[in-house]
Amino acid sequence: MSSIRVVCRFRPQNKLELAQGGNSIVSISPENDSCTINGLESNHSFSFDYVFPSNTTQRDVYDHAAKPVIEDIMAGYNGTLFVYGQTGSGKTFSMTGINEPNGDQELRGIVPRMIETVFEFISNADENIEFIVKASYIEIYMERIRDLLDTRKDNLKVREEKGKGVWVEGTSEVYIYREEDILDVINTGISNRAIAETRMNAESSRSHSIFILTIQQKNLKVGSIKTGKLYLVDLAGSEKISKTGAQGTTLDEAKMINKSLSSLGNVINALTDGKSTHIPYRDSKLTRVLQESLGGNSRTTLIINCSPSSYNEAETISTLRFGSRAK
Ligand code: ADP
Ligand code: MG
Repeated sequence: MSSIRVVCRFRPQNKLELAQGGNSIVSISPENDSCTINGLESNHSFSFDYVFPSNTTQRDVYDHAAKPVIEDIMAGYNGTLFVYGQTGSGKTFSMTGINEPNGDQELRGIVPRMIETVFEFISNADENIEFIVKASYIEIYMERIRDLLDTRKDNLKVREEKGKGVWVEGTSEVYIYREEDILDVINTGISNRAIAETRMNAESSRSHSIFILTIQQKNLKVGSIKTGKLYLVDLAGSEKISKTGAQGTTLDEAKMINKSLSSLGNVINALTDGKSTHIPYRDSKLTRVLQESLGGNSRTTLIINCSPSSYNEAETISTLRFGSRAK
């Protein structure tokens, strides 16, 4: 049975919520291990490994929830870190953050901070160890996988071979030689995502984006190789179809998105319930791609992102339910 670390982050109320007269309905235990939503009709409590209040900095989220994951990857494990929540809840802010070369460095999210940790580790490592750091960036939209670093690569296939495992065929891999290189990768991914969005008349809130970081360490003295792979997944918005007002093709789209989030929930529940013998990885592209980095020996962390506002009570409760079921 695997264990999954589940943490929860509340963002501050935004302008819209304040303008609608929303008030914060969250209380957090002094140990930061549970939260209660003081709802209109009843109260709902949920426990997690950690709960981050609205005023938490990007650095605190990184230090508590993400740094231990990259440390495991440097030790040669595989892992996955997800951000889950309704659109506008702070998933992308947590995962990628705001990355402007001359902007406020405090606003950087998990991905650039991980690269910083990796290069710190490299500069302190034994000189007989040679490091190879590679990044890929893909997106899953309507069960199609496309490359966010090369827009010509669309509808990529998932392949599996004994001994080689599961991989997405043909994905671009960019070698990261310096910490600064990661900004190009992030920004290329973000702008290609925007281009594809306009072309397909889609919304990024409807796709899952996956940043893949591979770290290989070769010990030149003894010839051993250690490889760790980390999937950083910014999931599609978890909001219900009705709230988006979707119709026609958008409704099909919304159904497919909800399907991949529910199959993710099913896989996580099967991994953690201690009795399932079959893990339904094949039910969606998302779980298929992540197959080898979920469960088994790999490290999985789920960051549940929520609004604290009365204005979003129903979505917040359903988001917290997903998170507490994953434990
Ligand atoms: P999502 O990716 O879940 O749709 P975003 O991360 O894009 O949501 O967040 C929506 C907006 O709220 C963005 O403008 C973002 O900068 C802001 N935001 C999210 N979380 C925080 C936070 N903890 N502190 C300040 N601003 C935040
Ligand atoms: Mg987002």
